[in-house]
Amino acid sequence: MTKANQSNIFERLELPLKTFPNGDQQDLTVFRLRSPNPGPIVYIQASVHGAEVQGNAVIWHLMNFFRDAPFKGSLTFVPMANPHALLNKTGTYTQGRFNSLSGNNWNRNYTDITKSEHFTIEEFCQRFKEDSPEKIKKHFKEFLYQSLKAEQNQLKKRGPQEDRKLNLILQELAASADIILDLHTGPVATRYLYAGEFEKDKVKDLNFPHTLIIPNEFAGAMDEACFIPWLSLKDALNEAGLSFEVPIESYTVELGSEEVINDDLAKRDAVRILGLLQKRGLLKEEDLSTEKKAFLDEYASSESQKACLLKDYHSYYAARGGLVEYLKAPGESYNEGEVLCRTLSFSDLKNLDQLDQCYSDTHALEDGIIINHNPSAVVHEGQPLYQVMSEIFEL
Ligand SMILES: [Zn+2]
Repeated sequence: MTKANQSNIFERLELPLKTFPNGDQQDLTVFRLRSPNPGPIVYIQASVHGAEVQGNAVIWHLMNFFRDAPFKGSLTFVPMANPHALLNKTGTYTQGRFNSLSGNNWNRNYTDITKSEHFTIEEFCQRFKEDSPEKIKKHFKEFLYQSLKAEQNQLKKRGPQEDRKLNLILQELAASADIILDLHTGPVATRYLYAGEFEKDKVKDLNFPHTLIIPNEFAGAMDEACFIPWLSLKDALNEAGLSFEVPIESYTVELGSEEVINDDLAKRDAVRILGLLQKRGLLKEEDLSTEKKAFLDEYASSESQKACLLKDYHSYYAARGGLVEYLKAPGESYNEGEVLCRTLSFSDLKNLDQLDQCYSDTHALEDGIIINHNPSAVVHEGQPLYQVMSEIFEL
């Protein structure tokens, strides 16, 4: 039985992003699916780092799922959230992590709107503190949107700095959302996500195999830019003697390795997200067709969920320059003392008796799980080899 819901509204928006010297214009393409019935507002973007493209395939599957499935609320998708970065090629490689002009990491340059003169939180609290939490939430979304608009207008006065312009547009698009997912990938990586300390009990519903719990602080990333204003609201209301919990969720989701899309894994990634949306009331399993239910069952994940605090997420850096063979794969567990990788260098070779010394091993300093490794075998001293989780607990 197919219960197609033809009254869902599909929109395509083109937001002007950048003009070029030759007169061309680059737009940001936004897709929106809206149900006639109110419900959660969801915002999902991908490829802010240009080489991290798996989220595009996931968004395709989510759109394909919802094109004829009944749901409540709205879904905003920005699959190629950073066209500059996506198009920035060096040879066959996509150099999409840093703005090539400023050197800024595209995911460390969002605006902490709580530091803006436009974010008058005391005034907001005075005005709305007597309202119900539901009404406060509604008013605060509008306040957040207006604060971001005012910040954008201020930025325009001296001409917009290109990465801040893009980032503020993305923040504005996410301002009304209850659930924000910023889809990235690691270099050569397993599946993992970043969740704020305040949302560590909710993140389990995303059913990801690895989770890093980050402090409730701003370090420039999209997930933080979205949740920090709500934490600021919570603090202000709590200080005024009112109880209020942060009603939104905002995660950075790392979908494997850069420069790769994989359809089978995209279905699994999409089903994880659909599981979260189901738990938040956007869709109900009993309303779905047999085909949709079968899709959810076929691609459901049943792995355990391992987590660690950000302070226990460690990097290994190369002790010497050389050519690195990575002996552990992303997602693999290891024990203290095991060899993680070996590095080949001819720098000290003076005679053939020394051949064995051309290889040096990097040993694990703790028990842990490999989260990602450098995609290149060519590594300078001081460059990253691995990032690993340690002091692991089950969610
Ligand atoms: Zn990224």
